[in-house]
Amino acid sequence: MSAPTQLRLRSLLDQLTAYRPPAVPVAADGSTSRLAANESPYPPLPAVQAAIAEAAANANRYPDHDCVALTSAIAARLNVPPDHIVVGAGSAGVLQSLITAVAEPGTEVVYGWRSFDAYPVLARWSGAVAVPVPLRDATFDLPAMSARVGSLTRLVLVCNPNNPTGTVVSRGALANLLDRVPPDCLVVLDEAYHEFAGDQTADGIELHHRYPNVVVLRTFSKAHALAGLRVGYLVAGEPVAAAVRKTQLPFAVGHIAQAAALAALRVQGEVDRLVGLVVAERDRVERALRRAGYDVPGSHGNFIWLPLGPGSARFVSACAEAGVAVHRVGDDGVRVSIGTPLENDRFLAVAHYQRGEQ
Ligand SMILES: *Cc1c(COP(=O)(O)O)cnc(C)c1O
Repeated sequence: MSAPTQLRLRSLLDQLTAYRPPAVPVAADGSTSRLAANESPYPPLPAVQAAIAEAAANANRYPDHDCVALTSAIAARLNVPPDHIVVGAGSAGVLQSLITAVAEPGTEVVYGWRSFDAYPVLARWSGAVAVPVPLRDATFDLPAMSARVGSLTRLVLVCNPNNPTGTVVSRGALANLLDRVPPDCLVVLDEAYHEFAGDQTADGIELHHRYPNVVVLRTFSKAHALAGLRVGYLVAGEPVAAAVRKTQLPFAVGHIAQAAALAALRVQGEVDRLVGLVVAERDRVERALRRAGYDVPGSHGNFIWLPLGPGSARFVSACAEAGVAVHRVGDDGVRVSIGTPLENDRFLAVAHYQRGEQ
């Protein structure tokens, strides 16, 4: 028998850990409230489920690599040329292709922190240096970020509204950032929660028309209730979109995902109505938390941020005992997604009790 061989892997992997989804807690009564992943609490709309069922019949065929029907529907909706749009396997998938196309060893990716966990991971995969810039008042500190941008910076990531804090940046601060970042450096506006923010912040698509280095990321995972199908897209100037197409996996977006997203766009009015329900619940939960004495920033997403610091672990275990899954963000805080009214009430019951215990 030969001696075991030492595998040669990228040294970068020493800094990485495999993604581990958290365990799903179950209450004594058998219930689970899934408030950990910012999903829609509502199943896909009937018309969307019908499109999914119909698309199943063609699953023996590879999907349309160019996502032609979906791309043209998005283009018409946003009033941008179809060649400015790249559809991918979730907006995280399309962001991976973008970073692969733009960043490399010796360059930097600048982002606010805390924010979406995928940013440092995707930046490191490319070999670039991940440069986190701390939030200020739970909000992206755009002046500090623009001061950090240098000749090595290829990409600046702005999560608006920000996951996990729910805050938005002001239109003025964003305009200042865009005026200060050199035109050869991309500014990515991750608008995964755009629909929940209404007109409370800038619309990335308008900025895309004014600044050729703006890239907008949107997803069908949140407002459109299709997290399980993995479909999202970016909007960028034609040269950027063309570059991203070179780093995309062939057939990245499945046929069923394309059909579902297209059907969801066709019932946008219904999607908007469900977003309205989530927003009303978010505001109700936020008021209840404040009345109970929690200091929560105003959220513009489908989730709320509780900056509990070292108390985060204990709070998360108390939620788990009640079958309420929430997302712990280290020792910074806890993010709770908005669910159905019943799920939100189960969460609030734990939050009230925990407040009494403190
Ligand atoms: C959920 C989320 C996404 C969307 O990811 P998908 O890959 O489209 O499911 C992107 N960015 C942020 C900040 C998110 O929270």
